[in-house]
Parts: sequence; C-alpha cells; structure tokens
Amino acid sequence: MTSGQQLRLYNSLGRRLEDFTPRGASAGTSEVGLYTCGPTVYSFQHLGNMRPYVFSDTLRRVLRWKGIGARQVVNITDVGHAVADSDTGEDKLEVAAARERRSVEEIAAFYTEDYFDRMAALNVRPADAYPRASEYVPQMVEFAARLSEKGYTYELPSGLYFDTSKSPGYGTLALLDLEGQREGARVEQVEGRRNKSDFALWRAEEPGSRRVMRWESPWGWGAPGWHLECSVMSMALLGEHFDIHTGGIDHRELHHVNEIAQSEAYLEDGQPWVRYWLHNEFILLDSEKIAKSAGHTLRLADLEEAGYHPLAYRLFLLGGHYRSQLDFTTAAMDAAQATLRRLVSRVAPLRPLPSVSTLEEARALVPAGDVPSREGGASREGTAAAEYISRLDAAACSDLATPTILATLQESLRDPAVPEAGLRVVVAAADALLGLRLGDLELREVEGRRSASDLAADEVERIERLVAERTQARKEKNWPRADEIRAELDALGVQLTDTPSGPLWELR
Ligand SMILES: [Zn+2]
Repeated sequence: MTSGQQLRLYNSLGRRLEDFTPRGASAGTSEVGLYTCGPTVYSFQHLGNMRPYVFSDTLRRVLRWKGIGARQVVNITDVGHAVADSDTGEDKLEVAAARERRSVEEIAAFYTEDYFDRMAALNVRPADAYPRASEYVPQMVEFAARLSEKGYTYELPSGLYFDTSKSPGYGTLALLDLEGQREGARVEQVEGRRNKSDFALWRAEEPGSRRVMRWESPWGWGAPGWHLECSVMSMALLGEHFDIHTGGIDHRELHHVNEIAQSEAYLEDGQPWVRYWLHNEFILLDSEKIAKSAGHTLRLADLEEAGYHPLAYRLFLLGGHYRSQLDFTTAAMDAAQATLRRLVSRVAPLRPLPSVSTLEEARALVPAGDVPSREGGASREGTAAAEYISRLDAAACSDLATPTILATLQESLRDPAVPEAGLRVVVAAADALLGLRLGDLELREVEGRRSASDLAADEVERIERLVAERTQARKEKNWPRADEIRAELDALGVQLTDTPSGPLWELR
C-alpha cells in the first residue's frame, strides 16, 4: 500500500520504459549504485552542462521517495580528455593551462570549485564521491593491461587501442551497426587503426613532445584515454556491476558505447555491466546544441547577473521532461522566475513545512481523516491531500515526469478542497521531488532586480490607469470587470494591496 506505484524508467539500452528493480533487491539490500559522467574541469560549465546533474539529482530524489537509498559517484575529469573528444591531440586541461598561464592543477582546482558552487546554487545534493581521474591512473594502467592480456588490444606508435571487432555486442547502446560506426563521422583518422571505431586506452607521447601530465606505462610515457576513467572509477567505488549509469545524450553514441565495450571485455562474465542507462536530452540555445566548442558559453553566472535566481533555471529545466529537448530563451527564463516567485509567495504562509523525503513519510503525515479508506472505491473515499500525494507518486514513477509534478503542485495550491495541514504535506512532498527549496527560499531572493523604478514612464502610466479603472469598477460594483483588470495587472507582475486609503501596488 505505502510503496505506491512501480517506478518505471526509460532505459537507453533497448530504448524502452522498464520497471526499475535494484540489483540488490533480491539480496535484501536496497542501496542502488549510480554513476554520473561528470565535468571536464578546464573551463566554466555552460548552461547545457548543468542539465545532467539536475537530472541525476531528480533521479536520486525519486529513488529516495521510493525508499531506495542510492550511492552516487560523479567523476571529475582532470586529465585524459583530449580536445574534440578525440584520441589524439592535446589534453583539454593542458590547453587551458597554457591559455590562462596557470598550472594544470590550478586550472583543475579552480574549475572544480566553480562546478561545486554552481551545483550548490542549483540545490543539487552532493554526490557520495567525486573521484579525480588523475588519482586513478595506476588503476587505469592495470585495467588496460588486463585487456591487453586477454587479447582485446593492439599497440600503435600513438598508443594502446581497444579492438572493437573483438567485442561482440559493440555499439548495442547506440543501436549502431558496426559498419555504420566504422564509417562514423565523429571518429578521427588514426594511422594504423584496425577499425574506425577502435579507441585509445592509452595515449602515448608523440616522439619529441612531452606532455605536462604524464605517467609511465607498459606502452611508454603518456596519459590514459578518456573513456577508461569512467569504467575504472565506477568499478572501484561501486563494485564491478552497478545499477544505473547516467549522462548527457551525446555520450550514448560514443563514450558510453566504449565504456561498455571495455568493461564487459574486462569482466568477461556474460552479464551486462550496468543494467540501466539513462540519458538526458540537450538544451537548445537558438535552436542548436550548446557546445563548448561552438563558442556559446552562456553560464549560470550570466543568468544570475541578469537578475535570475539559479533555482529559476532549475525550475526551467524541471518544466521539461529530461528526455525532451528544451529551448532556452529569455522569455522561458522570465516565465520560470515568475512561476518560482508565485510559488514562494503562495507557500510562504504555509511554513514551516514538515520534513518529507519519502512517499511513506508523506502518507504518514497526511492528517487524520485524510487517508483513503481501504474499503470502497478509493478515490472518492480518499480526501484531497492524500489524492495529491498519490498523483505526485504516479508522476515521479512515470520516468520522472517533473512537468506533471510541477503542475500537480500548482493545482493543489489553487484547490480549496485541500485543508491547510494537508496542503503543507503536499507541498513538502512535491518539493522533496523538485528541490526548489520551497521550505526556506525567501521571496526577496526571487524578486530579481525588477522594481517600479526600473519601469519606463509609459509602463507606470499604464499600470496606474488600470488600478484607477479597477477602483472605479469596484465603486460601480462591476465585479467581473474588477477581476478582469486584476488578472491583467497580475500578468504584468503587479501585486495589489487594498488599503482603507485606496489600493497600493508594487511589482512582485
Ligand atoms: Zn563517463
């Protein structure tokens, strides 16, 4: 009864909605292992880069809601990621260090710190571990050596390569036919490579050049290939097999395909390495993918400077399903900020909100007399708050349907049938899933910089005229007209307070 709906997630492996069953469920443990591909810390993360983490945070919140504990690992790529995601060429960190005249360590430390700050601003809960690639190089060398012993690799002057023709299921995740991948556009030409889809496990130093970040290996001095770190660090921290791997959809076609190939070759136990692969879609800026390389670098800090609250961006993200592409526009951000402001101003009088993080807690807190009867036809017997809790659960279990959760919350706040005590629980439950800090966010934090003094004279004139018209309509007891004008003012962001000496207005 209290477990609610079955959690269903869209698995990229097979491209279908599936019931989620934790690996440990049969063994009686319920902690789920979750690995999320993390940032390459060579520059500020742009807006599109934030989505995978808000998405994986939502996933964790939903797991928690279902009473499933999760251990999340997010890697910090501070070595191994070559420019253009290629196997050869310079390391992104080294390029950044040269550009900024700082050491690679300084570059990594600076941008890692900035990443953590942004995550906190977006109310993304910290992961349980943030392994740095540079700290796992010996394990990566061991991993590659084992693949080599098993005959999955070959050596070229440019490094050690994984032979994808030896991997029977290669490309399943991306729905690739091998021939297609071998002709794929994204792969670069490497002299001597047997198949175009083969990738570097170890990137050897070119003769005469010396990398800044370099380690010794059986294949000479060099640095690990980019894909290797995720296999090695996830297994080191979550065990050889774990439940869920997440990342941006661009990883589905190459990075995750290669992670799977090398991991299953390493394990050779006939089991899928990871059961559930979840991918979030892109954010579109001017209808094209925001790519760091394309020079679009709109960042969260830019939004804050423009007067938006970071949680308005979180709300913008949650307003779309994680598998839908989202168009980032100023109008959409304005709408998100206005929605957040309305939510906070509506919820503030209900505080303090009860502490709720699971469905079970929410159900236990719905006040006496507000619990659906076990007899009889459920929904009509159940009172309003309990029904809203069930609807939140259904939305969360339906592949993390955050737009529905948001809409359900807004509906409950307008619904006169929900008693205040019950409404508090509904709001706390919704926010356990959404993470918008509805329990403590101050209205002044989401007011932005907009105030009456920012308005142009004609805007002020228009508002004053509407306020006067409404006063006149009220005098004439023309209530429909008065309400109409009030709605119009509301749409302009004007808050009206009626006082004995007449109405006062201000901008929300
Ligand atoms: Zn990864």
